[in-house]
Amino acid sequence: MALTVPAAASTCCYCGVGCGVLVKPDKHGDVTVTGNPDYPVNRGALCSKGLNLQYTVNDRTDRLLFPQMRYSKSRPLQRVSWDEALERTAAVFRTFIAQYGPDSVAFYASGQCLTEEYYVLNKLMKGFIGSNNLDTNSRLCMSSAVVGYKMALGEDSVPVCYDDIELADCLLVTGANPAWCHPILWRRVEAHKAANPATRIIVVDPRVTDTCALADVHLQLIPGTDVVLHQALARVLLENGDLDMAFIGQHAEGFEQYQQLILERTVAESAALCGVAEADIRLAAGYIGSAQAFLSMWTMGLNQSVVGVDKNLSLLNLHLLTGQIGKPGAGPMSLTGQPNAMGGREVGGLSNLLPAHRNLADPAHRAEVQQFWGSGPLADKPGFTATEMFEALEDGRLKAIWILCTNPLTSLPNVRQAEAALAKAKFVVVQDISNKPETLAYADVILPAAAWAEKEGTMTNSERRISYLPRVVAAPGEALPDAEIICRFAQKMGFAGFDFPSTEAIYQEHTRLTAGTTLDIAGLTYEVLRRHGSVQWPYRPAQATPGTPRLFTDHQFYTPSGRARIHPVAAGFRSEAPDEDFPFILTTGRIRDQWHTMTKTGKVSKLRQHLPQAFVELHPADAAALQVAEGDLVTVSSRRGSVRVAARLSAGIRPGVVFLPMHWGKILGSDLHRANNLTSGAVDPISKEPDFKFCAVQLEKY
Ligand code: SF4
Repeated sequence: MALTVPAAASTCCYCGVGCGVLVKPDKHGDVTVTGNPDYPVNRGALCSKGLNLQYTVNDRTDRLLFPQMRYSKSRPLQRVSWDEALERTAAVFRTFIAQYGPDSVAFYASGQCLTEEYYVLNKLMKGFIGSNNLDTNSRLCMSSAVVGYKMALGEDSVPVCYDDIELADCLLVTGANPAWCHPILWRRVEAHKAANPATRIIVVDPRVTDTCALADVHLQLIPGTDVVLHQALARVLLENGDLDMAFIGQHAEGFEQYQQLILERTVAESAALCGVAEADIRLAAGYIGSAQAFLSMWTMGLNQSVVGVDKNLSLLNLHLLTGQIGKPGAGPMSLTGQPNAMGGREVGGLSNLLPAHRNLADPAHRAEVQQFWGSGPLADKPGFTATEMFEALEDGRLKAIWILCTNPLTSLPNVRQAEAALAKAKFVVVQDISNKPETLAYADVILPAAAWAEKEGTMTNSERRISYLPRVVAAPGEALPDAEIICRFAQKMGFAGFDFPSTEAIYQEHTRLTAGTTLDIAGLTYEVLRRHGSVQWPYRPAQATPGTPRLFTDHQFYTPSGRARIHPVAAGFRSEAPDEDFPFILTTGRIRDQWHTMTKTGKVSKLRQHLPQAFVELHPADAAALQVAEGDLVTVSSRRGSVRVAARLSAGIRPGVVFLPMHWGKILGSDLHRANNLTSGAVDPISKEPDFKFCAVQLEKY
């Protein structure tokens, strides 16, 4: 059924670039999606995923249409009403909470949730259930960057804007393949380089990706050696006299300790550890040192690591050593993997965060939030993180889990263990749009959710740009917006404060809680967002353009001293080391035309044509040693499991390193394409982000 809405401005629901789209409904309730020519991020351009967005909306054949429930593990699921589903779920949650305490239940959500959805989940769990057991798949994505920003700059604040791309004369792209994974942003880099060929581009990646086509220098490092590389770059900057000592003296602290550290190893020694030429490190450092405006971009290659925080901090150090932050064209630009991981961070939607950058450990901050919500006391210890939730399900500490808007049985590391853990859960709720996620097989309650374009709300992209997404078509069957489901459940639990008359009322409550904080958006209404198209926080209504493109322009950082912190991060190795039995390093990642676990993009035949099947990419020399030819089936095994996929030979990957795409889950009951059968459950000790980019595997021709 179509609503009487003309083409509406919205935002693409895939990556954190956050491209503007126009969504036009027809009389059958289908939509067409085109790029929004007036949107500042993309000026009408869309990548292959955005161009095919309409097909994922219009194909409703896989949609969940009504709530389902089973009364015991031995009984089948049956159709029930919303009231029955939510009343029983509330009764089960109340029973566990009464018997085992509030930490016996958990919510596992997603960077694809809208900000309003995160907000009510956070309020419900932390304020009213009284546990911090709310985490999201952003833990698998950006949590190392969050910690890095907090430790170096004082708060989780991306200082730059996309317009800095066109103002930079040196870009360092590390641990990212934006040509495939953030394509529209990369088109801007390509156009900038074409118009300004003197702009230097440094790419750091163990693989030759499409991003490397633009590189002036490609540092093809050994996986896991990023900190060593960053230290070597810092050392060359020091040797060349390219440090900004005035900036360091006035606006940073910790320099002396770091200087000592980077002098402990010669550049030649670092080059050998990283597996790159010393001359290339010196060339790259020369580009950075001579830049007027130095911009870095990174994503999972730094974040998804047991040393993810150290990788982030050592990269941020390069900006602080050179004073390349808080000025046009300069600064660190973390590329968010998901469309609204930023919105989740803003509302405090991770198990160790509070709303609007407040600190969970600070009693005054907890009291402030408690008073605002009119809730009970907030728990002071962090809740379970994504991987910890599944460990806790396995050993029985966690009794019930509610999974929404994510597909952990494809996306979690060491996923067979997660699967076994979910099988042991006493009670599982799955809230989703699709009948495809593997989690549904374990669900005691299934709740059908409205999809993108079927609900309204806001998202924040990688440059702090908040946009409004309208409801354009009706959801099929009895599916409801995620925020409404959570609010209905909270009311069934007997909690006050969830009878919001509209989604906008949720949003307004969230904005009021940001008042006076560094991300203050108080007064930024849906109406303002519709009028301006989008606004970058913090909101400054007195200005003609009411957003804030760039932070720290006064070089006052959010630390107690106002100075940024240069952290003396040492180069540690905590990953699973290759050995005789498992001699290869496995790294996982995305391909160009698929999104996460393919629930949406997998439905579009055009998107399946690019790389239709899972594969393992390996170097021809390794293939020859294994007597493997292009297309041969290969069994890839780790200490945790195995996959069997076709070999793709590429001279662009380092010998000894293999790559598997992360998108495929179970196909017709077989999990032999699922990369996360292999990956390690090891996590960074601070950010708790998993080591998706490094584990030891062996290969055998099948
Ligand atoms: Fe969507 Fe990202 Fe592609 Fe833009 S670049 S159209 S946000 S997937």
